Amino acid sequence: MNIHEYQAKEILRGFGVPIPLGKIATTPAEAEAIAKEYGVPVMVKAQVHAGGRGKAGGVKFCKTAADAKEKATAILGMKIKGLTVEKVLVTLAVDIGSEAYVGIIVDRQRKKPVFMVSAAGGIDIEQVAAETPEKILYLPVDTRYGLRAYEAMRMGFFLYPDVKLAKQAAKIMQGLYAAFMASGCSLAEINPLVGTPTGELIAVDGKMVVDDNELDRHADIVALRDESSEEPSEVDARNCNLTFIKLDGDVGCVVNGAGLAMATMDLVKYYGGEPANFLDIGGSSNPEKVVNALRIITADANVKCILFNIFGGITRTDDVANGIVTATKANPLKVPIVIRLTGTNEEIAMKILTDNGFTASKDMDEAVKKAVAMAKGGKSA
Ligand code: GDP
Ligand code: MN
Repeated sequence: MNIHEYQAKEILRGFGVPIPLGKIATTPAEAEAIAKEYGVPVMVKAQVHAGGRGKAGGVKFCKTAADAKEKATAILGMKIKGLTVEKVLVTLAVDIGSEAYVGIIVDRQRKKPVFMVSAAGGIDIEQVAAETPEKILYLPVDTRYGLRAYEAMRMGFFLYPDVKLAKQAAKIMQGLYAAFMASGCSLAEINPLVGTPTGELIAVDGKMVVDDNELDRHADIVALRDESSEEPSEVDARNCNLTFIKLDGDVGCVVNGAGLAMATMDLVKYYGGEPANFLDIGGSSNPEKVVNALRIITADANVKCILFNIFGGITRTDDVANGIVTATKANPLKVPIVIRLTGTNEEIAMKILTDNGFTASKDMDEAVKKAVAMAKGGKSA
């Protein structure tokens, strides 16, 4: 789950990371009022779940309160990477002397949180990693001990030769690490960490991604969720207890089990197609889930063909067949459907489907090939 910059900054502030004063505005008048309250200059910053807001024109320096109002007018309602800006953060502008990158991610290979720090911050860290990898220090943390003082100092000195700055940076690393662990993050970063001309460090941008599997024990984080800034189909799916991720292809996939869903997407690609989504209807036997899944998938105008791939274990294939019949009776499909099912109650399922004018196969390769061909405009078999 993504949270906004202003929310991440509030959490980081709670762990002792220096953050410029800031408040949220949803109208230009509010932005102006905040600028008057704080004094200028201020930054007006789009709050959307997308990186590179600066380049997209969503981060503006404002010399006066009137300027803040004007910039907020331009930014509110603007689209960044397909997401509409509904809130801006109005925050005191900081004088920039240097810009560093400081981040932690969960590294699956090392099975540890790993710090990545670089004095070449501000811009794309991906570009720094690709072109000048020597400018990044990677430091894995042993979670049994936490981030040790000498490790934090090592990163501090990697960023700043000056001992006072290095010490400040080390303290910020400790705060970032504590916030990362306490919030169940998969990623937490400060980019840029600014060094001011007067020798202070301050976090000008903050980003946190919380591992969805941690949400059960972080009600405080769940409360930060902003559904208005998420992909609507993903919100709908989550509220129906479906695991769904929207993708850019045209073969809509309905599968039970995450492993089979991954394998199905691989096979779609293998046969030259592009999946429109990842969708796991789960292991339960519930026709309602199929109805919801079909509603969500068919709402995507890119979908040219729907592919069901069900391996019946705990999931009863007859329940899935009933779900398909119910859903398509209520909302007749405008795109072809290819059904592959096998396993528990498959004879009953096949009969339900054929009685209702569907064809189904038990062969996964065959079904995927057919779905890919249909999505490409081939005729239905
Ligand atoms: P991002 O583009 O989404 O990563 O947004 P950031 O918050 O990182 O802002 C992008 C860039 O705007 C930064 O790298 C800075 O160069 C600039 N910027 C952001 N905040 C300030 C500020 O307080 N003062 C000044 N002078 N520049 C800022
Ligand atoms: Mn940034």
